[in-house]
Parts: sequence; structure tokens; C-alpha cells
Amino acid sequence: MTFELADRVQAVPPSGIRRFFEIAEERDEVISLGVGEPDFSTPWAARDAAITSLEQGKTSYTANRGKRELREAISDYVADRFDLGYGADEEIIVTAGASEAVDLAFRALVDPGDTVAIAQPSYISYEPGVIFAGGEVLPVPTKKEDDFRLTVEALEAAGASEADLLVLCYPNNPTGAIMREEDLEPVAEFAREHDLTVLADEIYAELTYGGNEHTSIATLPGMRERTIVFNGFSKAHAMTGLRLGYALGPADVVGAMNKIHQYTMLSAPTTAQHAALEALDSCDGDVREMVAQYDRRRQFVLSRFREIGMDVFEAKGAFYCFPEVPEGWTAEEFAEAVLREQGVAVVPGDVFGAGGEGHLRVSYATGLDDLREALNRLEAFVEEHV
Ligand code: PMP
Repeated sequence: MTFELADRVQAVPPSGIRRFFEIAEERDEVISLGVGEPDFSTPWAARDAAITSLEQGKTSYTANRGKRELREAISDYVADRFDLGYGADEEIIVTAGASEAVDLAFRALVDPGDTVAIAQPSYISYEPGVIFAGGEVLPVPTKKEDDFRLTVEALEAAGASEADLLVLCYPNNPTGAIMREEDLEPVAEFAREHDLTVLADEIYAELTYGGNEHTSIATLPGMRERTIVFNGFSKAHAMTGLRLGYALGPADVVGAMNKIHQYTMLSAPTTAQHAALEALDSCDGDVREMVAQYDRRRQFVLSRFREIGMDVFEAKGAFYCFPEVPEGWTAEEFAEAVLREQGVAVVPGDVFGAGGEGHLRVSYATGLDDLREALNRLEAFVEEHV
């Protein structure tokens, strides 16, 4: 029997990086700089809290929106770290990863035919999420000349004034770009002027380097009432597999998201909520240590790319850098050849949408020894071919 799959599912093409995993599997000793998750283990205190909760038999559902104590801790944390004021009762929802939160927001806000502008290159889930919700995607390419920051020129050139929603992600996956307050101000003005709802994926907020502090667009004047902020425990707290994230926003939107969540998920994983509570309570030192290590790796990788002679923009956030491939190559050709010949896996930038072509996403969520070896191999490849 063949199923008639829903059009909106068929409309999403298969992921562009699957082929790379197949090549990687054929070859021994591949060093992967292709991953989007921390190489660190979850801080022990958070794991221990999860274990204790299991020993105590705390394995029931929680409140739909998440444990009250956790929502209160999130409310305090985002106020303290990012100057964001959200109440635990109605303005915070705890979800199965930031992924679920983003999906809930699309489903709560997008009607068929609505246009969602997405600043690209960007994380690969936004576009399918919009299509699954019945919306139309409007890519807004950002440029290396602008350090991959979103500008009003880019928004205007893409026709984003006609959009209903705008998705942005800073610190950015895949470029490592950040946006400071003065960069966000004109974007906020554009959103207010054209009545755009902003979805701000700030999951890499803690991973901001070089003396920069993360600024949330929701803290700018007139933005709190039109912005949903996403964050979670996967990146800064190295908790990807525990699947825990959250959204912050005005009560009516968070309420609508909770309506979908309560029927589709009931509540986010209970064990992970216990771990997250402890992560916020006692793991700040672990986060600072991981951030310091990412920063050392970032500086090492950037300087090695420059030595190799590959043009690379100064990434200041997340755990990625985004070098340009040498002239005469497409990103896909380069990534495939480096993988086949040198056993180094990186992701071609095109996978992340408009503006990513001609670049590679290189993750430094990998130990320094592997990074050193991978960059030596890349150097050998460039010396041989370029
Ligand atoms: N947003 C971005 C920008 C990401 O890079 C990722 C993970 N790669 C996610 C969201 C998903 O995070 P979570 O594990 O919390 O679902």
C-alpha cells in the first residue's frame, strides 16, 4: 500500500547533509567538525539531580507549562542574565527542547498563506517549521560584508515589510555572528514600523565571546509585546539529549502555545526538568568554564584558518565559524573532497539557506586535539589543491 502523504510534508526536501554522513561512514578516522552539539557532558550536579529525582520516583507529568519552581528559576535567570522580565505564571512555557518551542510558535501564529521572513543563513528547522504550519517562507539573506548581521537594507531588499513574522537567531547558527544592541535597534524599528512579530532564537545567548554581552531584541523599546524569545539547556548547559527548552512571550501567545503543547506533549520531560532546575541553581561555574574553553577553541580555529589562507569572518558567538571556500570551488565540492581525501567533515553553507553559499560551517564543539589535527589536514588539502 502506498500512502498519500500530506502535501506540506512532501513540500519539504530531504536534508542536504545526509549524503555527507553516508560518505563519512565509508571512511575510517573521520574527524567531524559537522556537529551542532556540545562535546562536554552535562554538569554533574544537574545529572545528579536527575538521578535523585528518579530514585525518589518523581516520574509523573508536571504542569503543562512546566514545574512552577523551574518557571520561577527561569524567570529569575533571564532577568539576571539578559534583563528580560517574564512572569512564571503566564509568560513562560517549558518545552521539549527549544525545537518544540519554535514549532509551537509557528503553529500558534502562522495561518495558511502568512509570510514568515527568516534571516539566513540560519538553523535548518525554521523553514520546514513554517511549511508544516502552512506558511510561506521569505528568505532574508545576510552578508559577510555585514558580518552576517541582519540589516534594514537586507530586510527591505527581500521585501520583508510585507511579512507577518520575522525569525532571527543571534548568536547565529551557522555563522557565529552576534548582534549588539546598536545592530538590533534598526531591526526593531523596522519590526515596529511594519508590525512584524519577531521570533528570536537566543539558544546560544550564553555563548558570546570577546567581551561582548548578549542583548535580546525583546529588551528594546516596544519589542517585548511583539517578540517571542526561545532559549534552552542544550547548548550552554550541554544537555541536548535531555530535551529541555523554553519560550518567553506575552501571555496570549504563550497561552496559545500551551494549548497546542497540552494536547501534543502534555508536559516536557520531568527528569530533565529536575536537571534543569539544578543547572540554573548551581551550574553557573560549569557554564563559565565551558564558555572559556569554547572561546579558546574559537580563537585557535580562526587563527589557523587565517594561516591556511582561507578567508574567515570573526565569529563571536555560538560554537561555529564560517570560512569561505577558495575560489573555483563550490562549498559542496570542497566539503565533499575534504571529507573523501582527508577525513574531515564540515557542512557546506548552502544547507543553511540564502547567503550561505561559498562557505563552510565548522563547529568547534570538539576537543582541541581533534581541532588541531583537523586543521592540519585541511591545511594539507589546501596546499595540495589550491
Ligand atoms: N536553535 C538553534 C539555533 C540550534 O542550533 C538548535 C540545535 N542545533 C536548536 C534551536 C535546537 O535546540 P534544542 O536541543 O533545545 O531543541
